Amino acid sequence: MLEGKTILVTGASRGIGAAIAEACVRQGARVYLNYYEARDEAEALAAKLTEKYEGEALTLQFDVGDPEAIEAACQGLIEDGNQVQGWVNNAGINLPGLLPTQSDEMISRQLTTNVLGPIYACRFILPHMMKQRSGSIVNIGSVTQARVGPGQAVYAATKGAVAALTRALALEYGRKGVRVNCVEPGPVETDMFKSTRELAGDQIRSAIPLRRFGRPEEIAEAVLFLLSDEASFITGGTFQADGGYSI
Ligand code: NAP
Repeated sequence: MLEGKTILVTGASRGIGAAIAEACVRQGARVYLNYYEARDEAEALAAKLTEKYEGEALTLQFDVGDPEAIEAACQGLIEDGNQVQGWVNNAGINLPGLLPTQSDEMISRQLTTNVLGPIYACRFILPHMMKQRSGSIVNIGSVTQARVGPGQAVYAATKGAVAALTRALALEYGRKGVRVNCVEPGPVETDMFKSTRELAGDQIRSAIPLRRFGRPEEIAEAVLFLLSDEASFITGGTFQADGGYSI
């Protein structure tokens, strides 16, 4: 399905990003696992995936909110003659809290990582994808932008921006052969979801038609499809993988 393709996944040291990276390596891709702080976890995961599957996993450290760091880390990858056919903007943070309690720093960190991160990454990779006249970008949004819980205003705003960015870029770069889609997970069992689960887990679960939380692997399957040539006529879409939570 992804044999011979090179794909970069941001925030792939754990959680949903790690599952996306695993699904891509399993399908034969060469995958760059980006991480920010969790170097040991990312390197251990890359070694495990390369050992286990047909594909290959490598690590790349950079902060998605720092455009110079993206450039410095990824320029070599392109100069080495790699054709990067897939890019997943997965890295994200959620710092919950009612708006009046959010510090400038909390607001700015969420906007920088969740919104500027995908914007900087797309600005970097689009010229390359346009040159090769093919590419698939998948942005990870969140069902929270449509179904908001208390203390989620800033995070929901960032994920609304991700959906808007997806549609705008799909419109602008479709004629250059680049597809851009968004996957919006519902509540998924990862580190990010831990505090919400402790606060309101049962209430949220009972509002999910499938009556359970998602697993990172279930989000990865949706992303895998959008990265693949099987999704060749799909662009500008926002797809919920949420057990029906957004209904
Ligand atoms: P997670 O378990 O907290 O993992 C977050 C990942 O993002 C880590 O790999 C982390 O890297 C990376 N990261 C954070 N800041 C970064 C930065 N500045 N630069 C590069 N990498 C950075 O989160 P998750 O639950 O897997 O979430 C993944 C995505 O799904 C996010 O966009 C999130 O908003 C979205 N999502 C999650 C849920 C859910 O219920 N879990 C629901 C809807 C949407 P390090 O460990 O190296 O710092």
